[in-house]
Amino acid sequence: MKNLMEELKKSAYYKRPKQPKPSQQFEELEASSLFCVKCKEAVPVRKKLLLVLPEGEKFEYLCTQCGNSVGSKTSKEESPMHFVIK
Ligand SMILES: [Zn+2]
Repeated sequence: MKNLMEELKKSAYYKRPKQPKPSQQFEELEASSLFCVKCKEAVPVRKKLLLVLPEGEKFEYLCTQCGNSVGSKTSKEESPMHFVIK
């Protein structure tokens, strides 16, 4: 029985080819610094995933110096349902 579980796990694993993370590097690059009202200057920001919505992922940008929220953004994935089509 344990073997069967292992087999199931394996086959489930193989059926899901690794999807390249969609434009993660690109996301890191955009909005590398934003104006923080608390620091009163343009600061490097940290991107935080807030929500995953049907229309895209909502991110919040936090000041790396004081943690203040300096902006948010909803990023659309180009084809979120792509993996279904075969
Ligand atoms: Zn700040």
